[in-house]
Order: sequence, then structure tokens, then C-alpha cells
Amino acid sequence: MSAMPILNATPPIAPLTGVAAELQGLIDEQYALHVGNADGVLADYIPELAKVPPDQFAIAMATYQGQIFSAGDTGVEFTIQSVSKVFTFAMLLEIAGRAETYRAVNVQPSADPFNAILLDPKNNRPFNPMVNAGAIAVAGRLRQDLGKSAFDEVLKTFERAAGRKLEVDDAVFQSERDTGHRNRAIGHLLRAVDVFDVPVDEVLDLYFRQCSIKVTAIDLAVMGATLANLGTNPLTADDVFHLDATRDTLSIMFTCGMYDGAGDWSINVGLPAKSGVGGGIMGVVNRQAGIGVFSPRLDENGNSVRGKFSCMGLAEQIGLHAFDPTNPGSTYLRRLTAPRR
Ligand code: GLU
Repeated sequence: MSAMPILNATPPIAPLTGVAAELQGLIDEQYALHVGNADGVLADYIPELAKVPPDQFAIAMATYQGQIFSAGDTGVEFTIQSVSKVFTFAMLLEIAGRAETYRAVNVQPSADPFNAILLDPKNNRPFNPMVNAGAIAVAGRLRQDLGKSAFDEVLKTFERAAGRKLEVDDAVFQSERDTGHRNRAIGHLLRAVDVFDVPVDEVLDLYFRQCSIKVTAIDLAVMGATLANLGTNPLTADDVFHLDATRDTLSIMFTCGMYDGAGDWSINVGLPAKSGVGGGIMGVVNRQAGIGVFSPRLDENGNSVRGKFSCMGLAEQIGLHAFDPTNPGSTYLRRLTAPRR
């Protein structure tokens, strides 16, 4: 792992021309199309999240070569919540290796709610790392392997993926720590079946803290672009994740990343993605770009309403669906720059 050069991710200032202007135009168009949609509700089971101004909306895209296009409230920070699960899972794959990781957590989609207090009866392991039980198992293993510096390592890794310094929202962290009884129950269940052997409170502390890291839509786009760019942050050239960890992570995002909306998402958007109850969605156009969207009102599956529709619109307009051979996405984004050698 190389040292982390921190850059501030800011949209380009020079006037855009050609394909860059077209892309910016499509993002502006999606923003305008969906900004008036007030459907959905704020997550209020974490009391502090119920206080977030509901009308905020931002869309960002970062390419594998570090160009950033964005619209709306791109400077607004929100808590990363479940999008964090993607990066802690990738960390565990790197730190513990594949075999150990898959001894702690399975990789099957689950038809149960994200916060179900339930393990796979086959082997007493969480169904996958994108539901709370799986992410708490991952946090437990990270805490076990990294000791008391686990959160510092998590924060450092998130910063390297985003290319800038990040901070925790202490109010959200406290709020979740005070009210996260379901997650605590899951932690005790995992401890009872020996997924980890460190104190449950310390594991939950790590999990609640990782969920409370503040990011912007641009940060999510850059973090997604880091995964799209084979684990290397396109702004800083920092090799954050190895290829194997990146590949497994993207695969699980594709099948399990969007709560109970994962199936609809896979046919309508067709991108590996992860959403969080803070209203963020991170999408990955493999080898091309990352997408970050933020809008806090959530649909019945817990996915940001305007985030979902703007990702659908962008996927449609730019042609991003991973399995649609008639879509121009992979060539569209490459027209921005000389082809990759
Ligand atoms: N911190 C949240 C929880 O555990 C994350 C849930 C989410 O974003 O899906 O309930």
C-alpha cells in the first residue's frame, strides 16, 4: 500500500466541450427531471437521520481517468451508512484472504430485510456482506484482526478510496449507538456462533462508526471509480484494493447491493451498486466510471427514490447496462479520452 496523496475532488472549472459537455448535459438533464420528485420518506429509525433536510439532491460521475461531472448539492455531506459495507468487505478480503472471509460470511442474496436477525441455517453464517448481519460479521473480523486500530484503518481506507480526508458525523454515530438494538442483537448472535471472538460492543462501535463516515455524492462517485478502475483511485493513482478483492466485491454488489430492490435494479440499471439509508447510492460502471447519487427520501425497499430514478435515467441515456450489447456505454465514456492501452 502506497502513501496517500489527498486531493480535493472538485468538478472541472474550464468550460466543457465535446463528449464531456454531452455527459455534463445528460447529468444536468437527470437532475432537472427528478429534482421535483418528493416521493419517499426519510429513514427515521436512526433518530438523527430524520433531521436531514429532505430536499437535498446531488448526482456525480467520476471516470476511470479522474474526470468529474456533477449536478446539484454536490458539496453536501451525508452519512455513508450501508455503502460502507462494500469497502469493509473489500478490506477483509485483503486482510484475511478469501478463504477466511468466506468462513465468516456467505455470498447468497437473501429475501429477508436488510436488518433481519437471521443467519443462513446451512452454516450459521450471514447470507451476504451487504445485509447488516454480514457487515457486522465483517466488522467483527476486522476488529479481531486489526485490534483497537481497526476504525483508524477503515477510515484511512475510505479516505484513500475517496482521495480526501473524511470525518465521522458524531451525532449520527451516537444516535445509532443509542438506538441500534437490532444490530446489537445481531452482534450477540454472531458472537454466540463464533463468527468473531472480540467484545460485541467494540464490534458494534466499529460498525456504527463506519456507517457514520460523512461523504458527498462526488466522494461516492470517486470511491466507485476506484472500484471501476481495478482498485486504483483515478485521482491519486493510489492502489487501494487488489484486483481479486475488487472483483469479488463488485460481484456481490451486483447480486445483493440494493436491498430487496436488487433484482429490479439489475434489470433496469444493470450496474453493481450499493445504497445506504442515508440516501446515498454508489454505482460502478466496470472499468469506466463511478456514479454517486444522494437524495435522502427512500422508497419501500430503502433505496433513495431520486437516486434510483436518476441512475436508471443515466444508465439508459449513456448506455451503461452491463449486459446490453446494444448500449454504447463502454464506448461512450471512452470517447472522453484516448482509448485505454
Ligand atoms: N447503519 C445502518 C444500520 O445498521 C445502515 C443500514 C443501511 O444503510 O442499510 O441500520
